[in-house]
Amino acid sequence: MVVGFVGLGNMGFYMAKNLISKSPNDMIVYDINKEATKRFSQIELEKTSDSGSKNARIRVANNLAELAESSDYIITMLPESAHVKSAYLGENGLLSKLKPGTVCIDSSTIDTDVSVQISSTIIENGGIPLDAPVSGGVMGAEAATLTFMVGSRNSSEFENAKSILELMGSKVIHCGDLGAGQTVKICNNMLLGSAMIATAEAMALGTKLGVDPKLLATVINSSSGRCWSSEVSNPCPDVLPNAPSSRDYSGGFATKLMLKDMNLSLNAAKSQKIPLFLASLSTQIYGHACAENELANKDFSSVYKWINKK
Ligand code: NAD
Repeated sequence: MVVGFVGLGNMGFYMAKNLISKSPNDMIVYDINKEATKRFSQIELEKTSDSGSKNARIRVANNLAELAESSDYIITMLPESAHVKSAYLGENGLLSKLKPGTVCIDSSTIDTDVSVQISSTIIENGGIPLDAPVSGGVMGAEAATLTFMVGSRNSSEFENAKSILELMGSKVIHCGDLGAGQTVKICNNMLLGSAMIATAEAMALGTKLGVDPKLLATVINSSSGRCWSSEVSNPCPDVLPNAPSSRDYSGGFATKLMLKDMNLSLNAAKSQKIPLFLASLSTQIYGHACAENELANKDFSSVYKWINKK
């Protein structure tokens, strides 16, 4: 069996690495960034008695059509709706050479309506679509502890994809029909986006008032203010050595991608006529932070830096 993986960025690199490390499947990978595929094909993997170096089981595709032609499963991990749309539907895209019965798993976070449209076209072309966005960040991708939120046509297609997803995550949850995974993910990230800003404000205020940031975080994390942003990816530098904030906000989840997700939630709410006051304000704050180019590509916890500059 061959697994095709498209998008070897901050998340995709580790997800694909866990896939090849933990399964006997061959892999074919593609990224428009040649550095990304080069880095992946050079990863150090242990030798196995049956198949020699696992790296020999990694092939780099020259284009998406070539990847589709060789794959039984395809996983896409791309930034935004437009990238997933063009990867599938574009000229020489995945659908141009899709084999009948190929399982097409999109783990990118994209607009639910776009995801459902792409899934319909995959079905028309003989493929089996699933939306399976993730939560857990780059640290979760590296440790294979991601949570997958899955939308699929039925439980047997979900169970089939689950065996692959479990190689990259510790929780694989069926959320409902096609698109349901994206809906759940968008709601989660809307909450995360506001929680990160709230955490950054609390850390900034306490620190300015003279409290030691590590002590402040320790108390918050044993109190009612505790959340993922305070406990796992605290935005204040040097509170958590492994958090992006302690390496000048490099790696992690880019502020521009958080802005994208906040906008996805606002768009979804517009169609349901639900006013999202806090999410609207948070979206504006990430918009301002992104306008400072330096922060757009940094981890979204760099909103702490933006707050401190004001
Ligand atoms: P990233 O920008 O680091 O990686 C995306 C990769 O896709 C890049 O290597 C880029 O070169 C490649 N790419 C772009 N267009 C392409 C195309 N047409 N064909 C092939 N490759 C293409 O992004 P990321 O942080 O890995 O996030 C990917 C997705 O996962 C996004 O939808 C994001 O919202 C979601 N996500 C990210 C995190 C996180 O912590 N980074 C967490 C959960 C979900």
